[in-house]
Amino acid sequence: MSDDITFSIIKPDAFSRGDAARILFRIAEAGFTIAALKMIHMTRAQAEGFYAVHRERPFFEGLVEFMSTGPVMVMVLRHPDAVERFRSLIGTTDPAKAAPGTIRAEYGTTVQRNAVHGSDSAENAFKEASYFFSAIEIF
Ligand code: UDP
Ligand code: MG
Repeated sequence: MSDDITFSIIKPDAFSRGDAARILFRIAEAGFTIAALKMIHMTRAQAEGFYAVHRERPFFEGLVEFMSTGPVMVMVLRHPDAVERFRSLIGTTDPAKAAPGTIRAEYGTTVQRNAVHGSDSAENAFKEASYFFSAIEIF
């Protein structure tokens, strides 16, 4: 894996509304290629492990509860400068403040239910991808 990957999740809010395919289309249209993709329903413990870095934050409990409410789509995406390019495609954490046309502005509803996850650094992209996929599952 190079620095040109990022890791993303189509979160339970977007998935349950049937927006997963539309969001995938937006991602493909922006030039990202899919290096790995699957649907999973995280247990609470799996969501806690994924967001372990946030465990001291006041929103942690609500976040892991939400992330384990239903199926999600986890994926590894490839693009030059993948982390930064993907963060600009999705917009800021709060959909109400996200730039018009970003995925969170379009599909997110609250700070918590913001439709998609995107890694914040190349190092975390690698860690997060490895949390859900083995090396031979990433193309
Ligand atoms: N989150 C939340 N309340 C907050 C801040 C964040 O529920 O006050 C959730 C939200 O779903 C966000 C995730 O926690 O996407 C991780 O937070 P982070 O600050 O890493 O934002 P992101 O990197 O996803 O933009
Ligand atoms: Mg983050």
